[in-house]
Amino acid sequence: MGTYDLCIIGAGMFGSSAARHASTDPSLRVCLVGPNEPTISAQDTLILSPFAGIQFYHPVGTLLGALKGSLYLQNWLTDLETAKVPFVDFTNEDTLKKRYTFLQLDDCYHFFLDDNGAGYINPRSFVEAQKKVAELQGCDILNDVVNEVVEKSSRVHEIVTEKKKVIRARRLLFCTGAFTKFKNLHPVKNLKMSVHKETAALLQVSEPEQRRLSSMPPIMIYKKEIEGMPSTTTGVYIMPPIQYPDKKYYLKVGPMGHQKNSEVTTLEEVKKWYSNTGDSEVIDKLSKLVKRIIPDLKVSRMQSKTRITCDSPTRLPYIDRITPTVAVAAVGNGLGATICDEVGRLAACLSVTGKWDSELPKSLFEIIFEKDD
Ligand SMILES: Cc1cc2nc3c(=O)[nH]c(=O)nc-3n(C[C@H](O)[C@H](O)[C@H](O)COP(=O)(O)OP(=O)(O)OC[C@H]3O[C@@H](n4cnc5c(N)ncnc54)[C@H](O)[C@@H]3O)c2cc1C
Repeated sequence: MGTYDLCIIGAGMFGSSAARHASTDPSLRVCLVGPNEPTISAQDTLILSPFAGIQFYHPVGTLLGALKGSLYLQNWLTDLETAKVPFVDFTNEDTLKKRYTFLQLDDCYHFFLDDNGAGYINPRSFVEAQKKVAELQGCDILNDVVNEVVEKSSRVHEIVTEKKKVIRARRLLFCTGAFTKFKNLHPVKNLKMSVHKETAALLQVSEPEQRRLSSMPPIMIYKKEIEGMPSTTTGVYIMPPIQYPDKKYYLKVGPMGHQKNSEVTTLEEVKKWYSNTGDSEVIDKLSKLVKRIIPDLKVSRMQSKTRITCDSPTRLPYIDRITPTVAVAAVGNGLGATICDEVGRLAACLSVTGKWDSELPKSLFEIIFEKDD
C-alpha cells in the first residue's frame, strides 16, 4: 500500500468532498477511509447529470416563510438584498396559491421563493458522486472504520482500522462528523462540540402522488414554538417527496433547532438513539402540520427517522490544522449539506499546502478545544 500523502478519515459529506478536491492533483497519493452509506442501486444513480452521471441536485427553489413583521423575515430580506440574490416575493398570497395549488399556507406568514439555484440535494447520491470522481482521479477508497491513529517518529501517521488494516500517511484529515469524539481518536477527542438527537417524520407517498407534487420546493417556516413544539425549536422544514434507497417515496418533515433533552455524550447513547423510534411528540405534531399545509396529501404509511447532528460554539464548521500534518473539517451545525463541497475544498487545500484559500477569514473556522474554555 505504501505511504499516502493524505489520508481522509470519514467518507461523509465533508470527507468525500475533500477527497475529490485533494485527488485533483495527480502527484498526490490520497486515500479516503470510512464506512459506506446504505447502497443505492446503479439504476437509481446512473440518471444522466453533469456530475459523475449521478443526479443529486434538484434546483426547484426553496420556499421560505416567517411571521409577517417578524425579525426572521426582516433579517432574511436584508440578507437576500445585501447578497443581491433574486427572489420571488409572495406578498400577494393569491400568486402563491396559484403557483402551488396543492399548498394551503396560513396568511399570517410572508413567503418568498429563493429561486437562484436553491433547491435540495440528495446527500447519499452527493457522497456517491464525490467518491466516484475521487476514485476516477486515483483516490483509494476503503470501506472501513478507523479505530486508532498513532503519529510515528518519522512524521508518518499509522491508521489502524476495524478490519485490522494498517494505513500509513504523511498527513491526516479528520472528517468524522458527529462521531468525531466517540472513537476517542487522540488528535480530535478534545474538540469542543455538542451532539444532538434529531427526529424527523417520513410520510410515504405513492409514485403518482410524488408526480403530483413534483414542483414542490423544500419549505422552511420559521416560527418559535410552532404548533406547540418544544420552545427549543425554531421552525419546521418540509422536504418534497424523494426516492429513498428502498425505492419508495417519502416526504420528510422535521423541526429546526433542537428537540427537548437532545444532547448525547456517549457512543452507547447514540447507538440507542438509532434503534429508537424518535420523539413521538415531534412526529405527531409535524405530521399533522404537513396534513394542514398539503390538505389532499395521500400518505400510505408514516414512520420516524432518528439521526444525530453536531454543533460548535461558533455555529460554524471547524476547518483547521491541529498540527502541520493533522487537520479537521467537521461540525456541520445542521447546515453542513449546504456548504460541504466548499468545506471539503478548503480542508483539502489546507491539509496539503497549509494555505487558506478563501476570502473569508480563517479565524472564523478555527478549532476550539474543551480545555480552551
Ligand atoms: C435529520 C437531518 C437533517 C439535515 N438537514 C439538513 C439540511 O436540510 N440542510 C443542510 O445543509 N444540512 C442538513 N443536515 C446536516 C448535514 O447532513 C450535516 O451537516 C453533514 O452531513 C455534515 O457533514 P460531515 O461530513 O461533517 O458529517 P457526515 O456526513 O455525518 O460524515 C461523517 C462520516 O464520518 C464517518 N466516520 C465517523 N467516525 C469514523 C471513523 N472512526 N472511521 C471512519 N469513518 C468515520 C461516518 O460514518 C460518516 O460517514 C441534516 C442533518 C440531519 C441529521
